[in-house]
Amino acid sequence: MPLLRTREDVERQESENLAPFAQKSSSSRGRLHAQPSHRWRSEYQRDVARIIHSAAFRRLEYKTQVFLNGTGDHYRTRLTHTMEVASIGRTLARALGLNEDLAEAVALAHDLGHSPFGHSGEETLDRLLKDHGGFDHNDQSLRVVTLIESPYEDFDGLNLTFEVLEGVQKHATARTAPDLGAYACASLEGQIADLADEIAYYSHDVQDGIEAGLIRPAQLRNVPLCAETAAASGLDLADAGNKEVRLALARILSNTLIEDVLLASAGRISASGVQSADEVRRHADLLVGYSPRMAKRTDELRSFLYANLYFHPEVEGANRRACDMMAAVFDAYMKDPSQIGREATRRVPNCGLHRAAGDYIAGMTDRYLLREHARLFHAS
Ligand code: MG
Repeated sequence: MPLLRTREDVERQESENLAPFAQKSSSSRGRLHAQPSHRWRSEYQRDVARIIHSAAFRRLEYKTQVFLNGTGDHYRTRLTHTMEVASIGRTLARALGLNEDLAEAVALAHDLGHSPFGHSGEETLDRLLKDHGGFDHNDQSLRVVTLIESPYEDFDGLNLTFEVLEGVQKHATARTAPDLGAYACASLEGQIADLADEIAYYSHDVQDGIEAGLIRPAQLRNVPLCAETAAASGLDLADAGNKEVRLALARILSNTLIEDVLLASAGRISASGVQSADEVRRHADLLVGYSPRMAKRTDELRSFLYANLYFHPEVEGANRRACDMMAAVFDAYMKDPSQIGREATRRVPNCGLHRAAGDYIAGMTDRYLLREHARLFHAS
């Protein structure tokens, strides 16, 4: 092996080391706009770099995950959540012999379309745009990477590879989605991002929820996944008020879910007999996922988090006030379109004022939206 490893060396290593059903970067379907390949980076490593160098990625730092951005320095933001998803995604990909770079690229891009103010912000924007196609953060992530981020002179978008777009597409319905032709599923690397996302937020939301005093440790005894994993590792949930116990619980939850996904997915991949990434795409069902038992357990945990955390009066109250400001800013743009940003104005002829304003607001950080509200309504 030479001292300096070029893209060709990375591609050779992929062919030699990855599983037959992994997506190799050398067999990428490529980019919508042809560009010469990079001397050092594989196509997916290049996509990782394009995503983390985008303005939309940097703005994730100031967007709410669950707790309004800035209310606590230790809570997850959209950015730290995304980094956890990428880390878990790489772990899953490596253990299954898949392409870590592709899994990482999809994970890093998966939340680029999230609006400010978390779940409530997304609902608000969906309501504001209901007669104009609505708002969905998965659709929006695709719009961000194919249309809104615009670092090149000759075309809009980051010009990512087909495989990364396919992974980001997830449940997207937008016209910006790549044409998947006859394919039923994304690559295994694309499927991983979904699971990595869930594993990350289940464990960190439980941890942050307890830390914020919104979830009482005793409540977790009624959540079978928490009760069972705690019992299996000798943790007493009544002690979850203690930092060490809380961190241990988040760690154990995440490890339990990773373990389950790896074993269940390996079993399904092997039973399916798929021998290539395209056979994965043509397979009728997703191959990466929980065991049926764990799928039930995670559904219960998700219901618990929705009922007790995401719309907890304390979370919801702060988010509600922020979302009222979002709606007021949107209305102000409808009344006076000259107030929206230069880039958004440029898109009005193509997608209409409502969508352009929606794109503009969705791209804002929490604090930018508050500043914009102050500019529009409290200008001296
Ligand atoms: Mg996410």
